[in-house]
Amino acid sequence: MTRKTIPEPEYVLPGHSACPGCGGTLAIRYMLKALGPEVIIAVPACCWAIVPGYWPQCALRVPVHYNAFEATGAAIAGLRAGLDALGRKGVTVVGFAGDGGTVDIGLQALSHSAVRNVDAIYVMYDNEAYMNTGVQHSGETPIGAWTTTTPVPGATLRAREPKKDIIAILAAHQIPYAATVSVGFPEDFVKKVQKAQRVKGLKFIHALTPCPAGWRFDSSKTIQVAKLAVDCGLFPLYEVENGRWIISRKTIHHTLDAYLKVQGRYGRTPPEIVQLIQQQIDAHWQRLLALEAFTAAGAPGSAPAPTPPPSGAAVDSRLAQDAAP
Ligand code: SF4
Repeated sequence: MTRKTIPEPEYVLPGHSACPGCGGTLAIRYMLKALGPEVIIAVPACCWAIVPGYWPQCALRVPVHYNAFEATGAAIAGLRAGLDALGRKGVTVVGFAGDGGTVDIGLQALSHSAVRNVDAIYVMYDNEAYMNTGVQHSGETPIGAWTTTTPVPGATLRAREPKKDIIAILAAHQIPYAATVSVGFPEDFVKKVQKAQRVKGLKFIHALTPCPAGWRFDSSKTIQVAKLAVDCGLFPLYEVENGRWIISRKTIHHTLDAYLKVQGRYGRTPPEIVQLIQQQIDAHWQRLLALEAFTAAGAPGSAPAPTPPPSGAAVDSRLAQDAAP
């Protein structure tokens, strides 16, 4: 895919208040280029609840619905039902939420929408901490990273838990499509969001969005950091499509060192922590390769396509039958 395949129209206007080099801003820009204008976005508390500006100003050229921190999964279900009732089936409903608002605070509502296979796209922009409130540790903060609640000086105080594997959690809900993307690879990003728009049911996109303010790197290096994360194997690009795991980019081009050195949040990382991160990368790769082989079409024991849950209409008619005397 060449760069010419990225649609030209812009839906993020100049004048927003994101920090220079914000990866989250690139994510919403690519996402809207992929989806086009017939979109409504649900946004919880996060940087992008602030960045578009205060009413009546808005730096987005599409409607935005602001919801409570924990409620993005519920909001996309409600918006979908409302649009369907109005006959507006051509409008794509999107949840655009940060990592904390997704894997921690919003997980319950997201899980419910996944179980119901709500026809919407959920994009988690992952800056690996609660950036909007001051860089606190989230369920997506990686091992070894500094945050204001995992301060650096003693190795024991660094983040030691691995990133929550949200794609595996969503895949376990048997949604039809889930994928990882990085703002360092815009063609892959746009292609996967466009694919998600064509699929019916709940689609989940995990977008890596480096944050210069919280990760402590120069704002000119966002793309470099986003590429290095993928190319050192720490943030692999892959899809889970109807139960099939497919790795999008297999070769590792860089060492972990190159990724860690460019970011202040990994400053003075002790060798035992670097070793721990490398072990995590290796284990995750092995698991992805095994899942890809195991679920390949025609492979013995390959995962069957998920059975879509009954539609709301089917449930309503069954309830009506049960209620009948
Ligand atoms: S704090 Fe990070 S995620 Fe938030 S606007 Fe600034 S660069 Fe973007």
